[in-house]
Amino acid sequence: MTMMADEYNSPQIGDEQIKLLERLSNACAVSGDEGEVRKIVLSEVRPHANEVKVDALGNVLVTKRGSGWDPMRVMLAAHMDEVGLMLTHTNGGGIYRFEIVGGIAATDLAGKAVWIGKDHIPGVIGLKPLHLGHGDDHKKPINLEDLHIDVGPATGKEKVGDRATFATSFIRLGLSLRGKALDNRLGVATLIELIKHAPANIDLLAAFTVQEEIGLRGARVAAFAFDPDLAIILDSTPAYDLPAWDADENVRYNTRLGAGPAIYIGDSSTLSDPRLVRFMIETAEKYKIPYQLRQPGGGGTDAGTIHKQREGIPSISVSVPGRYHHSPASIVRLADWQHTCNLVGTALSRLTPEVLAGER
Ligand SMILES: [Zn+2]
Repeated sequence: MTMMADEYNSPQIGDEQIKLLERLSNACAVSGDEGEVRKIVLSEVRPHANEVKVDALGNVLVTKRGSGWDPMRVMLAAHMDEVGLMLTHTNGGGIYRFEIVGGIAATDLAGKAVWIGKDHIPGVIGLKPLHLGHGDDHKKPINLEDLHIDVGPATGKEKVGDRATFATSFIRLGLSLRGKALDNRLGVATLIELIKHAPANIDLLAAFTVQEEIGLRGARVAAFAFDPDLAIILDSTPAYDLPAWDADENVRYNTRLGAGPAIYIGDSSTLSDPRLVRFMIETAEKYKIPYQLRQPGGGGTDAGTIHKQREGIPSISVSVPGRYHHSPASIVRLADWQHTCNLVGTALSRLTPEVLAGER
């Protein structure tokens, strides 16, 4: 049983929220082509917001005003885009060359089914059959040049420039969820719920950003536009918490499934504001919400650009841990998602200017 901040009810994850995450996960929104996710976001947030706009780059910027005199301006950001592929050349007969958009290893691609373009046209990523190889061919690394996307005969609907994603339908597996693009549809779904359950003590400035996976491009202009007092970035970060079958103890796991939301101290592009790190930990401990500290190291979120806008914006990231991100299917725990909603919602509800007035 989790205790809540006095009068604040944080979002509860149930069938309705899982259904929404399913729609978000199955939607295709490779960087620069976020329209399908944007459409879902707009229809979900409009009834709950004071102001909703889509900016020049395609970010969805939502304002939900608090009550009272001069509430704090708190930016929450979640990126809508996902890593994927882009068709670059066709032979005219349904065979395409392609490029990778964002961080995907070419070795992950051979033989995978994909969805192409707005109509989710089914295709497969082909490789020379093993049967036709010579000698050690099968031991050589797979390069992008060895691969192609095959849609069968051309459908007339797909074209060069279209994006492609892994063709993975979302499913619930008991206490877990499996789907593509849970990095970062989980953050998107969490932010939608927080808008629906926004505490009244702050102005909630929600940015559903574009083009995070190719260099945090949307977040940059969103942070400039909002000019907030502080920012909390919602994302999903890798959990590499697998058993070390025949090696030493696994000490480089980044995060662990089932251990609660991951609070960031530092990654390759941001050192979280120490006052916000303390405040998050204090909130989790006071309200008995499970949490973990993400192992400081590489990787990054939209915080990397947000904290450097204007005159500097105190920032922190909080992620739901997930296994196998940037691959055809990720696995996450329902409980980690619920605790992330609790932690961020509860923290927002008890935010005061004193949090940033303290020492670093
Ligand atoms: Zn992400």
